[in-house]
Amino acid sequence: MTRSVSIFGATGSVGLSTLDLIRQHRSKYRVVALTANGNASAIAQLAREFDAEIAVVADESAYSKLKEALAGTGIEAAAGADALVEAARRDCDWTMASIVGCAGLPPTMAAIEAGKTVALANKEALVSAGALMMAAVHKSGAKLLPVDSEHNAIFQCLAGGKLDQVRKITLTASGGPFRSFSLDEMRAVTPAQAVAHPNWDMGAKISIDSATMMNKGLELIEAYHLFPVGLDRLDILVHPQSVIHSMVEYVDCSTLAQLGSPDMRIPIASALAWPERIATSCKPLDLASIGQLTFEQPDLVRFPALRLARAAITQGGAKPAILNAANEVAVAAFLNGQIKFLEIAALVESTLTAYLPEAPMNLDDLFIIDADARHYAREELEKLTSGN
Ligand code: NDP
Repeated sequence: MTRSVSIFGATGSVGLSTLDLIRQHRSKYRVVALTANGNASAIAQLAREFDAEIAVVADESAYSKLKEALAGTGIEAAAGADALVEAARRDCDWTMASIVGCAGLPPTMAAIEAGKTVALANKEALVSAGALMMAAVHKSGAKLLPVDSEHNAIFQCLAGGKLDQVRKITLTASGGPFRSFSLDEMRAVTPAQAVAHPNWDMGAKISIDSATMMNKGLELIEAYHLFPVGLDRLDILVHPQSVIHSMVEYVDCSTLAQLGSPDMRIPIASALAWPERIATSCKPLDLASIGQLTFEQPDLVRFPALRLARAAITQGGAKPAILNAANEVAVAAFLNGQIKFLEIAALVESTLTAYLPEAPMNLDDLFIIDADARHYAREELEKLTSGN
């Protein structure tokens, strides 16, 4: 039986890793939809290689280039936000949600509302729309397969276990490239230093999030929704080698951990083949050559994003969506050279305290909260840059 798959964000790091696995198992998978933002030539090339049914670019200005690149192939070309949502509703067995940022929310929600099996990498969508997304999952009967290595590890450690028998879930964190930097050293880091993660090869936004440890904050919120054991049972532990991807401790004091080389193709393969397994060409774990696994507590002073994320999910309502939107604005500003590294968390914090909207009751409310938060964050950014 072939499994039909659609990949949202196919030109990105997670999307390409997913396609790399499919390339190794061509007879098992059939590609339905592939999407990108504006990278028409890359998505057209992938659509041709994998003989997709449809290729979609979110950016409408890239449509003519996409159409031209697919001329004569029989592969449909489409563009725009509505086309993404329509592609997410297309018949397929498995959907990879790997668009970066809250921009991935509409197609991810469309796939969920259609009751599909959704492999979720797009953590910003879940952070922002948490309760609404989980309610949609329960209503439609969709299956969420976590792709983030930590959540995929927890998902695997929970197989056969019951949430009410869990004492604690520990998300491991590499600590990022500045784990042992002083605050003074962190003040001066450049975007090039921040995107160079010591263990993982990822897109720019998540790499910056890893450097500020906002990534772990977003993952805490993600775990809160995916594994409802209560916030007080969710812990973060720094583990610089990124070998243990997360752990689940049960009430009998048994702790299960999932280990593997730091290669996203491993958790993606687990979701792609779920509930089966497929072989990968990833490097098998060689613990003897690694020698030592070490652990330390996260430092909330140098990495305030962790504190902000925990506070946002504790307060609930609109706060996680504001945290996420402000962080997206701040990361883009850092990558553009507008603000300094430590100002990313400062900008998020000042946006979080700038205003307090009502909790979102539906997706329309959420989009308003997201847009307003970006507006407030840009105002905070202006204040910061006029002082820089
Ligand atoms: P990348 O930046 O590498 O890729 C992002 C993808 O999303 C590209 O296909 C891009 O298209 C597309 N895209 C960007 N903006 C938009 C938009 N506005 N509308 C529609 N599509 C858009 O990101 P990653 O693959 O690194 O990350 C994807 C998601 O997975 C993120 O949420 C991240 O947090 C999560 N994740 C990533 C991991 C990793 O190892 N990279 C690990 C765990 C989670 P285009 O090429 O045209 O710009």
